[in-house]
Amino acid sequence: MAKGNVFQGIQTTAIHAGEGPDPTTGASAPPLHMSSTFVTENVAGFSAHDLAEDSAFLYARWSNPNVASLEAKIAALQGTQACLCTASGMAAATAIFLTFLSAGDHLIVSDVSYAGVAELARDTLPRLGIEVSTVNLSDLAAVTAAVRPNTRLIHSESPVNPILRLTDLAAVSRIAHSAGALHSCDATFASPLGMNSQALGIDLVMHSITKYIGGHGDAVGGAVAGSAELIAKMRLESAIHHGGILSPFNAWLIARGMATLPLRMKAHASGAQAVAEFLETHPKVTQVMYPGLSSHPQAELAQAQMSNTSGMISFQVGSAAVGRATAQRMIDDLQVIHYAVSLGHHRSLVFWMETAGLMETSFRLDPTQEESYRSFAGDGIFRLSIGLEDAEDLIADLDRVL
Ligand SMILES: *Cc1c(COP(=O)(O)O)cnc(C)c1O
Repeated sequence: MAKGNVFQGIQTTAIHAGEGPDPTTGASAPPLHMSSTFVTENVAGFSAHDLAEDSAFLYARWSNPNVASLEAKIAALQGTQACLCTASGMAAATAIFLTFLSAGDHLIVSDVSYAGVAELARDTLPRLGIEVSTVNLSDLAAVTAAVRPNTRLIHSESPVNPILRLTDLAAVSRIAHSAGALHSCDATFASPLGMNSQALGIDLVMHSITKYIGGHGDAVGGAVAGSAELIAKMRLESAIHHGGILSPFNAWLIARGMATLPLRMKAHASGAQAVAEFLETHPKVTQVMYPGLSSHPQAELAQAQMSNTSGMISFQVGSAAVGRATAQRMIDDLQVIHYAVSLGHHRSLVFWMETAGLMETSFRLDPTQEESYRSFAGDGIFRLSIGLEDAEDLIADLDRVL
């Protein structure tokens, strides 16, 4: 099984960790292993409980050479001992919740998060007997106040989708650990380049690898990185029993994309900085949120915590009606940027997200929480994912529709 070597430089790690020349053919590029089962050389047990760190490949739901190689690459870049890949980012979140929470346990989750995670936490987990508190994790006093004797997990997201609010992740780790709980963080927006999860004390770092890690908008997948012990538990529960595994082909595509992740993240951040500065000066734009701008309300935390400010921007144009009209002009007239959901791709993407609708469907915030949300998002925001095109072309495209 490919193991993650740790190289000196981050770009060398992204290219070489978890892979090497094929021992049978000498192929320099990793071959694609489309095999659901593997011929075994030893008499082995058939239960997931017989799986060991050094087990040979047995069945693709346990592990597969392409998935194992990608897992080693992500662990090396995130600086953790191990990683588990899943069928999607949502499968990664589900894997965390269903491995580490049981009926009677308490979860503290960010009151704003990826909508799928928000709905999973509000609707599915309580049905299974899990207590859930939705808390503004940028308010540390609120986090401390929410801790209960049965709190097992705090799940954060930073920057938070879609409003780009940050969480002081080291502080949340300290609160979690002093309560005997784990801290998992959805770092999809930050990418492994934007977050030193070790230094921040995060136990489980989750990514939708559909986004920056794959980077090309052609494969859906998820990942959770952490200690060998925690990841082994998740592999047994989530991969082998729940079955939401990543396909070898998606692993192969995503690993190819990931080889250029550090280079791409630099380009995403510098493109986003240029576009955010343009938007800030545009007369039709009423507010811009980007962690690289000094106007971000948590600019100091962004500086301290994010080694790369990533490519995600949100901006407002005024009332919801103006937002909707602008969205329609984008759909009709954008020539470079695609009007579409998702993010982290080489193509730039933009999507209108109206506050009133999200309050009803996904977030259901109390008045104090909604006030914090609206201080970042007003009546609605455009979530803009800056790709790898020339910033001048993106600026011209936005200028045409604003
Ligand atoms: C997209 C996204 C997810 C869900 O990932 P999928 O791969 O679409 O299942 C989870 N968290 C964040 C922050 C995301 O942006």
